[in-house]
Amino acid sequence: MKHNIYKSWAEPYKMKMVELLKMTNPVQRKKAMQEAGYNTFLLKSEDVYIDLLTDSGTSAMSDRQWAGMMMGDEAYAGSRNFYHLEETVKDIYGYKYLIPTHQGRGAENILSKILVKKGDIIPGNMYFTTTRLHQELAGGKFEDIIIDEAHDPDNEHPFKGNVDLNKLERLVKKYGAKKIPYISIATSVNMAGGQPISMKNLKELRSYTNKHGIRIIHDMTRVAENAYFIRQREKGYERCSIKEIVKEICKLTDGATMSAKKDALVNIGGFLAVNDREVFEEARNLVVVYEGLHTYGGLAGRDMEAMAIGIHESVSNDHIRARVGQVIYLGEKMMEFGIPIVKPIGGHGIFVDAKKFLPHIPQEEFPAQTLAAEIYLDSGVRTMERGVVSAGRKATGENYYPKLELVRFTIPRRVYTQAHMDVIAESAARVYERHEQIKGLKMIYEPKYLRFFQARFERLK
Ligand SMILES: *Cc1c(COP(=O)(O)O)cnc(C)c1O
Repeated sequence: MKHNIYKSWAEPYKMKMVELLKMTNPVQRKKAMQEAGYNTFLLKSEDVYIDLLTDSGTSAMSDRQWAGMMMGDEAYAGSRNFYHLEETVKDIYGYKYLIPTHQGRGAENILSKILVKKGDIIPGNMYFTTTRLHQELAGGKFEDIIIDEAHDPDNEHPFKGNVDLNKLERLVKKYGAKKIPYISIATSVNMAGGQPISMKNLKELRSYTNKHGIRIIHDMTRVAENAYFIRQREKGYERCSIKEIVKEICKLTDGATMSAKKDALVNIGGFLAVNDREVFEEARNLVVVYEGLHTYGGLAGRDMEAMAIGIHESVSNDHIRARVGQVIYLGEKMMEFGIPIVKPIGGHGIFVDAKKFLPHIPQEEFPAQTLAAEIYLDSGVRTMERGVVSAGRKATGENYYPKLELVRFTIPRRVYTQAHMDVIAESAARVYERHEQIKGLKMIYEPKYLRFFQARFERLK
C-alpha cells in the first residue's frame, strides 16, 4: 500500500455547496440559553454558530451519497437499496445477516428483547446511555468491565477502551456464565472519550468468551475510528488498511448494533447484524413490530442507499486520517491553552474535564452542564454534557455519580474547517480565563428517561 505523502491531515475532498450560518451576539445568546433552561439540547439550532452537540447524524454526505438518494427504490418490500446495503454489510463488516433499523437504538431494542432475560448481567466496556437503558428495560443489569485507566482522564493508556478480564472473570464466578447473555463491546468507547480497544485485548476476550460460551455483541458505531487507532498504535497493524482492520474486529464478534449516523456518514439509519441464524429469525420478526418490514426497518430506500455508499467511504484510509486528524488538531490547540482535556485525544471529539476546569463547583451542581452553557454564551459554540446528568439514576432512584464529568466537543464528519477549530479552542480558552467566577446550576425539571435530553436548570446565585 502506498503511504500518503502529505504531512498534513488535510481533507481528501473539496466543497461544492455551503450552508450559511447565523452569527449571534451575547445578548441574543443569553436570551436563548435562558429559554433553553441551560440545557444545550434545548437550544434552537438556528441560534448556534458551530454545532458540536454530537457527531450523530450531523455529517456531510458526499456527492455520491446524494446521487444515491436519487436512486431510492421506495417499494414497501424488497427494495433494491436493501440488497445493496445487505451486500455492503457482508462485504465490509463480514456479518451474515442484516436487519435495518431507523437508528442504533432501534437495533438495541430488538437485540435486548431477544437476548436479555430478567436477572441477566451484561458486562461491557463502559456503558452507553441508550444501550444500557434497553438492557435494563429488558430486565438486565449492566456491569462495567472497562480497565480502570478509562476512568482517569489523565491516564495516557493508548487503549483505554480495553476490557479488564479480571473484572469479567469475577462476574462470571459470581453469577455464572449462564446469566451472561453477551458481552457488550463498543469500538471507540464514546463515554470514555472516544477511546479505542486493542486487537490484542479483543482477541483475549474472544478466547475467554469461547471457553465460557458467551457471545460478544459489538456496538460498532465508531469501528473505523477504532481501526485507525489500532493502525497508529498497535504493533503489527501499521501496514494494514482500515478496511482490513475493521473486518478483523468484526470477525472477533458474534453480532453488532450500528448507529450509521456516526461512522457511516448518513443523517439517519442503523442496523442490527448477526451471524446466528436463530437470532436473525427472531429479529426479523420483531423488527416488523417496532421499526417496519425487514427490508426497510423504518428507513426510506434512499436512506439505505446513502448508508451503503457511506459505509464504503467510511473505511477509506484517507477519509479516516483527515477525520481523526481534525479532532487531534483541536485537542492539541486546547492543550496549548492549558485546558484540561481527556488524554489521549479520542476519535470523535474533545472531552474537557469539567471537574478540573471548574474545581470549585461540586458534582451536585453539575459542573459539565454549567461549562457547556458557558461555552455557548461565550461564542455560540454548542457542546454537550457527559457527566452526572447523562449518567441518570439507578433503578433505586439514586443518582449515578460517574468519575468522569466531561463536556464533549464532538466534531461532525466533513463539516467544519480548521479555522472553525481555532474559533472553538479560543472560546474554551476565554471561558477558562474567567473560570473562577462561574457558578453552578440547579436542576428544576427532570424527565424520567435519558434526562440529559430534556432536563432544565437554573443558575445558582
Ligand atoms: C449514538 C450511539 C448509540 C445509539 O445510536 P442512535 O443512532 O443514536 O440511536 C449507541 N451506541 C453508541 C456508542 C453511540 O454513540
